[in-house]
Amino acid sequence: MRGDERRDQIAANIERVEGRIATACAAAGRERSDVTVVAVTKTFPVEDVIHLHALGVRDVGENRDQDASRKVDACRAAGVTDLVWHFVGQVQRNKAATVTAYADMVHSVDRLRLVSALQKGATASGRKVTCLVQVDLRDVPVDDGRGGAAPPDVDEIAAALAGSDALVLGGLMAVAPLDGDPASADRAFARLSELSRQLRSTHPSASVVSAGMSGDLEQAVAHGATHLRIGSALLGSRPALG
Ligand SMILES: *Cc1c(COP(=O)(O)O)cnc(C)c1O
Repeated sequence: MRGDERRDQIAANIERVEGRIATACAAAGRERSDVTVVAVTKTFPVEDVIHLHALGVRDVGENRDQDASRKVDACRAAGVTDLVWHFVGQVQRNKAATVTAYADMVHSVDRLRLVSALQKGATASGRKVTCLVQVDLRDVPVDDGRGGAAPPDVDEIAAALAGSDALVLGGLMAVAPLDGDPASADRAFARLSELSRQLRSTHPSASVVSAGMSGDLEQAVAHGATHLRIGSALLGSRPALG
């Protein structure tokens, strides 16, 4: 596909997603400006990131360190320097230093040991990195690589982030169960919203609620999500693994 055709296709996708968000905000009595769309560009080429940028998107998400740093470098080389980079994948402890060198927001802090590694990395880069505690909202947590802290562990991780001077405690993140049942996404986001309310009672500025993907953004908006992580609805379907 030619570059301008791809750009038109992405523009049409953005318009569709914006329509869905507008409807969801109206139904929830929320302002569109209260919701940030993070375009999840994992598995897609850097050209797509540049198309998104040309179409006005400023928040971009990646889930693998190697791909992310490559795209950050390629964007900078192309003169695209005003993107906000979100890291939404599992962070390995030995990758914390590289991730904090480019990520503005890390959505996936789910264990205490990661906090000190991220703090060290951010300090070495001289950056302030906003971090979200990723919560596993399944009734029975499964260690399948999706990550997420059990709800009772959220407070301790949040306190460690709040106490780290190179890190900023931004709020919470969750991935709804991917069983395709709108009711379970609804339940998960309601629970996340309650956990966010509890978190803000001790950390009032930790207001980010990162929830909602292509398939469940409406339920996420209904339950107060401030950040939607949208991949396939903007860029098309990905190869099965990714
Ligand atoms: C891939 C991914 C997304 C985007 O998913 P889509 O269903 O394509 O919108 C959101 N969040 C995380 C953590 C992801 O890994």
